[in-house]
Amino acid sequence: MKNNKSADKASILIIYTGGTIGMKQDPSDLTLKPFDFSQILDEAPELGKFACRIDTYTFNPIIDSSDVEPALWQQLAQLIYDRYDEHDGFVILHGTDTMAYSASALSFMLEGLTKPVIFTGSQLPIGVPRTDGRENLISSVEIAAAKDGEGHALVPEVCICFDNMLMRGNRTTKVNSDNFRAFRSENLPPLAEAGISIRYNTSLIRKPEDWSRPLTLHKDLDTRVSILKIHPGITPQVVRNILLGDQTRAVILETYGSGNAPCKEWFISIVKEAANSGKILMNVTQCLGGSVNMDIYANGKTLKEAGVLNGYDSTTESALAKLFHLMGRGENNTWVKTHLELDLRGEISK
Ligand code: ASP
Repeated sequence: MKNNKSADKASILIIYTGGTIGMKQDPSDLTLKPFDFSQILDEAPELGKFACRIDTYTFNPIIDSSDVEPALWQQLAQLIYDRYDEHDGFVILHGTDTMAYSASALSFMLEGLTKPVIFTGSQLPIGVPRTDGRENLISSVEIAAAKDGEGHALVPEVCICFDNMLMRGNRTTKVNSDNFRAFRSENLPPLAEAGISIRYNTSLIRKPEDWSRPLTLHKDLDTRVSILKIHPGITPQVVRNILLGDQTRAVILETYGSGNAPCKEWFISIVKEAANSGKILMNVTQCLGGSVNMDIYANGKTLKEAGVLNGYDSTTESALAKLFHLMGRGENNTWVKTHLELDLRGEISK
């Protein structure tokens, strides 16, 4: 890497899980299907110019990320944990559809990161003309290898690198299915931007309190979470089924604006019944930007009084991952609720 002596010996592990970046059109039915990983690296010979060692790991099977399940997050987190001492940074090639969920999940499962974990992918397969995959991959590797003068990683966080922007993973949402700016981090500016050089927004990047503290792996996840998106015309049956479902320990309420929902009697009474029966209810806004504040409007206040917790400016993806993680810690609901409203990995601004 240019101008960065301490990155000379950087060792990067590229982990290939699947997604468009590594797909090719199957001539038999014209659909995109995953192809062999070695061919992906052949498409980015520029990687050979970096003064860092690149190792690779391919998941089996490689998948379209719409098939991602929490088990894949557990495998990914375990792999990074097992190979942590061998590498200076990790780049995960992943489909864009669920990348924001996976990046959010890993941010909670890996506590005390001192090394970069960078998710990337592409909107066009890496082998086709005008692909965004090559730039995304090259920038990700450069960022994963970047160190400061003391030899510490410049970005020891779980991030998504896409279309020249490096974003905190648990702040990111997929917003576009066909242009190259597929992701946005509306509530937090990018941690870095790649232009002629890569400009790091160092004041925003989280650093560990103690660089020598070992990484903690939290693999257990409790997935008993449902999401209720509030909309005009929503019926008592739907609200009841989701909020009071037997298999549900927590519900994310995706509300309007700054955290508002209907204050109709039937709605509030179901919310209260759910809260009183021990369900964890978390308020997250449907808006791409801005925060929940249940003290502004009477309708928001009614939710707060009914026992709904504040999700602040969390994305839905991050709220889901945080609940899976906190509920998986084996603690009771009071502990989960207290931690839910704390900023654990830079996922909310308070
Ligand atoms: N369906 C693909 C996936 O998420 C889309 C992509 O990679 O962009 O795996």
